[in-house]
Amino acid sequence: GPPDLILLDVMMPGLDGYEVCRRLKANPATQHIPVIFVTAKTDAVDEEYGLRLGAMDYITKPFHLPIVTVRVQNQINLKLKTDLLEALALLDGLTNLANRRRFDEALDAEWKRAYRSALPVALVMADVDFFKSYNDHQGHRTGDTCLKKVAATLAQALNRPADLAARYGGEEFVALLPETDLAGAQVMAERFRVGVESLHIPHPASVVSPWVTISIGLASTRPDDQDTAGDLLEWADQRLYCAKAEGRNRVCGHGRLMTNLWRI
Ligand code: GH3
Ligand code: MG
Ligand code: MG
Repeated sequence: GPPDLILLDVMMPGLDGYEVCRRLKANPATQHIPVIFVTAKTDAVDEEYGLRLGAMDYITKPFHLPIVTVRVQNQINLKLKTDLLEALALLDGLTNLANRRRFDEALDAEWKRAYRSALPVALVMADVDFFKSYNDHQGHRTGDTCLKKVAATLAQALNRPADLAARYGGEEFVALLPETDLAGAQVMAERFRVGVESLHIPHPASVVSPWVTISIGLASTRPDDQDTAGDLLEWADQRLYCAKAEGRNRVCGHGRLMTNLWRI
């Protein structure tokens, strides 16, 4: 990974430190790495210039090593806190899955990548069946526990490092599967559906099963000029609606019905 901190001289052959700092700050991949200048340029004007370029600190030579150590430690502590806050801002607090914001960013990025590489990208959208009545009968705390278990099952159903599981809304979950065609997405979705049913979480108010179940809609496509990432979401959502209408506890992808265990 990228470094947590860069100590940068100013007077160097070729590129000077100010220019290096300017380029680091202009590049999205490096702009968040804190920079400390360590330099023999002691003028206040130079220091102001370095700080205005985005450096976090400016240390003049000759330096006192214990002071440099403390200043470095301060910046590292700040960086670790910032990293932690950024990571938390993209996580769902209840389930620890990626949150909606992270998912939206990933969908946009994966859609563009799939467009460039002409490879398919799949989206799986799941919704817990009769969850309102589950809450009404078991209470919201038990409802929350149930959502955590469903989330963990989704995370377990994913195999590839690039796959992303996220909580889309209240009791709705999504999986973004790069380089995955319809058949591959159906295998994954079915694994998720069976996984949730096999948890055997009692749901006496469900009309379709004695246990908590999920319905799943999915879509896979090779992006072209006509479609948008929003279309992929909409297709998966439409299929989810079909899975609900066809009787729940099933996977529905591109109009094909896969599982048919419990009918109403
Ligand atoms: P369907 O089978 O058609 O999906 O029926 P449903 O009852 O699951 O659908 P609906 O969208 O009407 O209900 C969703 C319910 O999910 C509403 C709310 O009680 C519950 N819910 C949403 N978010 C949370 C949450 O964070 N915790 C808990 N415990 N319940 C939640
Ligand atoms: Mg819902
Ligand atoms: Mg529901």
